[in-house]
Amino acid sequence: MIVKNLKNTSDNTCKCNSWIDHWERYTKNNAIFCSVQKCVDQAKVGAHVLKVSSTDKDWYIVPLCYSCNKSDNNLDIGSTSLALANVNDTCG
Ligand SMILES: [Zn+2]
Ligand SMILES: [Zn+2]
Repeated sequence: MIVKNLKNTSDNTCKCNSWIDHWERYTKNNAIFCSVQKCVDQAKVGAHVLKVSSTDKDWYIVPLCYSCNKSDNNLDIGSTSLALANVNDTCG
């Protein structure tokens, strides 16, 4: 799956300790490595992303490393599970 990192989302918070915890809670996975294909860096942040070329315009969380989190490029996250970023549907 191709996603794009959303900028200026650092003001968004949720009731989990962090967005990476939010992702772990709702996907029931452990965030170990960055979700980007071929990236072998450790997952450091739960990034807000949008699906590219999809009618689904919801915001999602995926674990990324610091450098992928700064990327403006489209990111191929393969079959990584997505957690909804909308707190009304999750931890809110
Ligand atoms: Zn949360
Ligand atoms: Zn990465």
